[in-house]
Order: sequence, then C-alpha cells, then structure tokens
Amino acid sequence: MLGKTHIAFSLSLSSLSALAYNHFYAPLDSILLWQFYIGVSFGAILPDIDEPNSLLGKKTFFISHILKILTGHRGLTHSFFFVSLFFALTFLIPNFETLMIGITLGIFLHLLGDMMTPSGVPILLPFSQKNFYILPLFMRFKTGGIVDKSIALLSIIAFILINKLILI
Ligand SMILES: [Zn+2]
Repeated sequence: MLGKTHIAFSLSLSSLSALAYNHFYAPLDSILLWQFYIGVSFGAILPDIDEPNSLLGKKTFFISHILKILTGHRGLTHSFFFVSLFFALTFLIPNFETLMIGITLGIFLHLLGDMMTPSGVPILLPFSQKNFYILPLFMRFKTGGIVDKSIALLSIIAFILINKLILI
C-alpha cells in the first residue's frame, strides 16, 4: 500500500470511531478532532520508516537506512510490539493523549492495510517471523496498483462524508 493510501485508508476508518464517539459519548471538540486526525496520519506512515523509499523514509534518510539494515522492511515496526509501545506511551506523555491515541490507531491501521498485500505482516515479531494476512490470496493486491489507488480514492470520499456527519 502506498503511503498516501495508508493515510487515506486510516483516516476513513478512524473517522468512524470519531463518529461513534461523537454520537454515543460526547460531542467532539474540533481541536481534539484535528489532533486525532494528525496523529492518525502520522501513525499511518510511521511503520514504513524502515523503508528509505517510503513517504516518511525519504525524509529520515539516515534513520530509515539504519532501521532497514537492523530489522529489514516490514520488521519490528510492523508488529503488535510496535503498536503496544505507542499505546503505552499514551499514558506516559501527559496532555497529548488524543494525539497519541491517533498515532497508535494509525499504526494499527497501517498494519491492517499491509495485511491486504501479498507480502503480509510479521505481526508477532520478535516472537515469530510468520507473515499474517486478512485477505485470501486471490484478493491481495500490489502496492501502487489500481486497487491500491481505488482504495485511496474511496477512502477520501468516505472520510469527507463521515466528517460531514460528525460536524452536523
Ligand atoms: Zn508498511
């Protein structure tokens, strides 16, 4: 999945949780909503920091090269361990809970997106190197292909429509 698709896909799914929160719990403050979406967008591209050619990797040249050498692409940054690390940080960094929850959710949704591609995700690292998928083999799609780009487009439309409902 392309970096832009990861952002769009994660934003559309996370906006559903914002809609549910707004509907069932309490009206959402627009500042908190923005913090949440900024967090989700960052989290959605963060795991690919282990790939120097990714959206984030291109901006962190040195770090992404070291990470790729140490863990390989789709290594530890593509595991439940990495998701748990950021979830734990949510409780350790005061006043930024909404941003941190957004980042954690973005990372999780990135892994979900990668689990729809032929390579899958070694979600149980460092305990197991087995790759996991959420789609059967014939439905998995290549990064940058027509399905990838269609998901990005549909996600952007869904994100706009869902946010119209939130801001009513
Ligand atoms: Zn990835």
